[in-house]
Amino acid sequence: MRETATQNVPPVAQGQYNTINSLTVDPAKATPMVAQFIEVKSQYPGIILFYRMGDFYETFFEDALITARVLEITLTGREAGQYGRIPMAGIPVKAAEAYLTKLLSQNFKVAICEQMEDPAQAKGLVKRQVVRVLSSGTVTEQSLLRPEENNFLAALTMKDKQQCGLAYCDITTGQFLVTELTYLELLSELDRIRPVEILVKGKKRRATSAQELDEFLPDIPADISDNYRCTPLGDDAFRASDTQFILMDLLKVKSLEGFGLPALPFALQAAGVIGYYISRNFLENTPVFNGIRNYSLQQTVTMNTTARRNLELLATVKNNQYEGSLLWVLNRTCTSMGTRLLRQWINQPLTNLNEIHSRLDGVEELVMSPAIRESIRHILPDIYDIERLSTKVANITAQPRDLIALKQSIARMPDLSNLLKPLETFYISRLQAFPPELFKVMALIDQAIDETPALNLKEGGIIRQGYHAELDQMRDLVRNHEIWLADYEAEQRERTGVKTLKVSFNSAFGYFIEVTRANSSAVPADYHRKQTLTNAERYTTDVLKNHEAQVLDAQSRQYELEYNLFIELRQKLLAYAPILADCAQRVAVLDVLQSLATVAVEQNYVRPKVDDSYEINLQQSRHPVVEKMLPLGRFVPNCVSLSSDYKEYKIPQMMIITGPNMAGKSTYMRQVALIVLMAQMGSFVPASYARIGLVDGIYTRVGAVDDLSSGQSTFMVEMNETAQILHGATQRSLVLLDEVGRGTSTYDGVSIAWAVSEYMANKIGCRTLFATHYHELNTLEQTNLKIANYRVCVTEANGEIEFLHTVEPGAAQKSYGIQVAKMAGIPGEVIQKAEALLTQMQKKELAVVEARRKEKAEETEAPQLSLF
Ligand code: ADP
Ligand code: MG
Repeated sequence: MRETATQNVPPVAQGQYNTINSLTVDPAKATPMVAQFIEVKSQYPGIILFYRMGDFYETFFEDALITARVLEITLTGREAGQYGRIPMAGIPVKAAEAYLTKLLSQNFKVAICEQMEDPAQAKGLVKRQVVRVLSSGTVTEQSLLRPEENNFLAALTMKDKQQCGLAYCDITTGQFLVTELTYLELLSELDRIRPVEILVKGKKRRATSAQELDEFLPDIPADISDNYRCTPLGDDAFRASDTQFILMDLLKVKSLEGFGLPALPFALQAAGVIGYYISRNFLENTPVFNGIRNYSLQQTVTMNTTARRNLELLATVKNNQYEGSLLWVLNRTCTSMGTRLLRQWINQPLTNLNEIHSRLDGVEELVMSPAIRESIRHILPDIYDIERLSTKVANITAQPRDLIALKQSIARMPDLSNLLKPLETFYISRLQAFPPELFKVMALIDQAIDETPALNLKEGGIIRQGYHAELDQMRDLVRNHEIWLADYEAEQRERTGVKTLKVSFNSAFGYFIEVTRANSSAVPADYHRKQTLTNAERYTTDVLKNHEAQVLDAQSRQYELEYNLFIELRQKLLAYAPILADCAQRVAVLDVLQSLATVAVEQNYVRPKVDDSYEINLQQSRHPVVEKMLPLGRFVPNCVSLSSDYKEYKIPQMMIITGPNMAGKSTYMRQVALIVLMAQMGSFVPASYARIGLVDGIYTRVGAVDDLSSGQSTFMVEMNETAQILHGATQRSLVLLDEVGRGTSTYDGVSIAWAVSEYMANKIGCRTLFATHYHELNTLEQTNLKIANYRVCVTEANGEIEFLHTVEPGAAQKSYGIQVAKMAGIPGEVIQKAEALLTQMQKKELAVVEARRKEKAEETEAPQLSLF
């Protein structure tokens, strides 16, 4: 995604236009309009300027070359004084949103420069001003958002690899969070949050040719700039001394003490960068936030980037698809806010036992109440995205139709509350009391807003009849005129004897009487000709003109009044924004709980016992996704028993898992991790029994060979990640190693795998699953009580193998690579040669293992000997 704006620039349209970069233009030598443009444009380097001219947004110079190419619109020219004809490309204001989507999706930013006065009344050049800068992270327009995902804007500050600050917010939901962390943790957090835009420090780079945008280049490691859309900002944005003030302004508070931020200088600075950016992007209607939440990574399960990807939480590794992900299995939510929250829960399993139990209690209660659950699932779809709607209310940007959606959603809430009355767990009982203020919101909207209000705020059709006496009078007046017109038409027909005479209206000519040419002779003398068409003449009369003036006047006063009444209502609703936001949050939680309960029932999951032991004990456990992809009953369940309790030597802390390719090693390991993750997010799990001692981190390392997603399947990457795990994992962590060491020669690989295993077992003491083809590792069991061998079983008959997918104690006797090769149709001669070679090599290997065993025996015997 390193694609910067400049790479999309079209070839210069030579000859027709003078393609000069706007930066090099001297306003004194250009026409007044171009001079105005240049002045505005110079304040927005790297940003395309949409310059309002009547019904169009025009772009000029390099911006025009870019928009013409990207949006496939016509490139024209405009006279610019001494600069001759400069490139220009315009888009109609009415269709702007679709064009904006396209520009934003290609990582461009757009500044909207509006006319600040009525051109008809302006003396000289119309005043213009930028009112908004649009970027991926600051859009609020519904059509530019994905309903089921958050739209996170993040900012980073970095002192060194140990001290970084991260802030992120979603303008559409009012969330704003900050934390301090190490660089490695930062990478993992970004991978979880997936911001649509990241604000980073940047260096200025001047455009060097006419086809480029002046821009900033990110001044951060490529890990970030290559993988995310970064918006580099200059030093201004990072000036720590201003931060406090920017944030107090943004949050409309007098002090930041309450958020516990001053103790976190880097987080604070990052938050300030967001504040800075927002204040520059929203020149009017600055969005509001529900405060800033300072969170700690200790509250949630740490996962390394590979774990997130390899466990396929939100999308599959292959093709990045939703179907086949954990989210796909667990998502039975009925609202988009529920879906967004479910994504967050999956992404951030908890480490707090009380919180985990509260969620599990809620799921269990809904599992036990099928009728209520069904009814909830019936009501929830009627509830719109009140989280985003309430943010619009808070930002005073709600449109009439948003308010109707809000009203209809609130209307369903009392039913929901009543439904939940018999239930008593914490999360669910929170929704039992329907806040009476919501009735007030509903009534306010209901009284004021028409059931199907117009889209345009300025053309009436918004306010309900009976809401405002004066408005009703005006409407009557307008309506009376319409009746009058109908009468007038009848009267004129009678008077002239022309049956086809019509009284009509159009916006360009106003009211007129239309008579076909054939009947022109019947037109009375007091008709004044207004317009001539091919087959008809259009006339007006003094009486008609008079009425026209009255109608238009009444109408425009009506529109204005409706607009004002609407604005007034929006202002009134502002007071209810916090309660709406709170309500949205509660509904979202209920939606996630019912989703988890629904899946639990349908997929036959069980409530896990999560405690602070160091065990993982699963009976008849299944992989939630693979199980669902296979025909019913085809998935073979397995047991798991692990413990990292130093006193508990009967249960292994590390399982070395061997078995041929395709036996099910990777599936087995991932299912353990997924079950732990599900339990700690508050979900039931696919097993007949599950006891899980709290896990503080899930780390996986997948051998380079199996790592489909990273194009760079080098041994270095593999070792890097292994190093990170060895540094990050604790006695509470769960580590999955899937064929680590395969990226290098066998002996190197075995040695590394061996040493890594011993370090994990003895030094870290984490619960570990290690799938390997190195049968040499099976000897570890004999020298280390914490390590045990397991194998995924196959049966062999007549040289053919069958996969049983059952995991049992013991080491796999062979890897069956040659059998698999045979099944694949490798010629017999090759197979025979391979078999001979294998036998030879196995003999050699046995000798090595024997030597190692002797060595180990001597080590352990040595101290005893010295006793004598
Ligand atoms: P390995 O890592 O040993 O090569 P995988 O875990 O990738 O094997 O599994 C290969 C395939 O076997 C999976 O795609 C799945 O379809 C099937 N499989 C794995 N485990 C089971 C199981 N317990 N029950 C049924 N099918 C399974
Ligand atoms: Mg595998």
